[in-house]
Amino acid sequence: MKILVANIGSTSLKWRLFEFSDNVESLLHKGGFERVTDYAGAIEDCLRTLKEGGHIVTEQDLAAVGFKPVVAHGVSGCVRMDESVLAAMEVYNPIAPAHNPPYILGIRLFAERMPKVPLVGLFETSFYQWAAPASIRYGVPESWYEAGVRRWGFHGASHKFIAERSAELLGREDVAERARKLYAEGLKTRVNEPDLRVISCHLGGSSSLSGIRNGVAIGNSLGLSPQSGLPHNNRVGDLDAFAIPFVMRRLKLSLEDVEKQLCQEGGLKGISGVSNDLRDIRAAAERGDARAQLAQEVFVHSARHWIGAFLVELGGLDALVFTAGIGENRPEMRAGICAGLENFGLSLDAEANREVRAREAIVSASDSKVRVMVIPTNEELVVAREVRRLLERS
Ligand code: AMP
Repeated sequence: MKILVANIGSTSLKWRLFEFSDNVESLLHKGGFERVTDYAGAIEDCLRTLKEGGHIVTEQDLAAVGFKPVVAHGVSGCVRMDESVLAAMEVYNPIAPAHNPPYILGIRLFAERMPKVPLVGLFETSFYQWAAPASIRYGVPESWYEAGVRRWGFHGASHKFIAERSAELLGREDVAERARKLYAEGLKTRVNEPDLRVISCHLGGSSSLSGIRNGVAIGNSLGLSPQSGLPHNNRVGDLDAFAIPFVMRRLKLSLEDVEKQLCQEGGLKGISGVSNDLRDIRAAAERGDARAQLAQEVFVHSARHWIGAFLVELGGLDALVFTAGIGENRPEMRAGICAGLENFGLSLDAEANREVRAREAIVSASDSKVRVMVIPTNEELVVAREVRRLLERS
């Protein structure tokens, strides 16, 4: 069974083609295009690449195309991406303006191009379906909650991969197995004591932290929208709601101005005034740029804030995991985030940490009670596995 997982950005199309047979999972191909202006053309080029590489003969060889859509009103989990689901995504376009519109457009183009191939999405919110009611509720009137104003949590595929892989690396195959079967079996599988408590730090262009107990997420730093939690590349992160009416009146901004600035001129770019890429920000900080230095410090501060929140909620910690572009490649950010936590049983091996980039490794000191790990994420594999499960069920 061949499953293509398509990752749709506003100007990019990236894909991975997996093949599943009984117990063997293999990655047949991965590729992508940046700076896409003609999405239909990019889908055509993707299919041509797969055909020329001998991976498929026609698109009918694909058992399904899988997606990682962000958020839909009233829909989560792993579902067929039909028009009713796309309409539910459209309701939330205003809260995910950089994510939902390109996904909806891309999925419609896939549907036109290959009407007979099932299109299946694993929503990024799925991993948080068992979060406690108290952790998803904002202090808003009931009518706001009923309209859809609640914490969702995102990056679910990435954090789920980390839940599985970190448990394996800690020798807790029981927990890894539970995490792998989570969507299929819900919370039915029993797990042996003691608990396994993990905080997963997905730090990249878009960043979030998840608290995970026994393979199940207890919460995520992203709330209603992908503009919350830590400051992102150019999206704002957490903000007091009253900042918005204040700046609209004080700076005479329209609602459209505010939305645009929060989504495109905020985050690390807004603070640093340099770039939305932490590599450029670091270079500027090393040249003595104070705002660039501050942007890095705000990022570290925000990550530590959420580690503290989940550490208390979990009642302790067995592993702290770093993943994604910054988490995997920036040792000094990992060091900053882990600084001074010895009283919580966490100490880094400075030398090991300095050397690790984009590969799996344990970077905590040998006497650290909390294991600190770097694990490259594999969101597409999580999506492909769930798509396969859905196809085999139906
Ligand atoms: P992502 O969204 O996971 O691709 O992460 C993008 C962020 O990770 C950017 O802010 C980059 O600065 C950072 N990043 C990605 N790759 C590297 C690398 N090889 N070295 C340093 N930083 C990187």
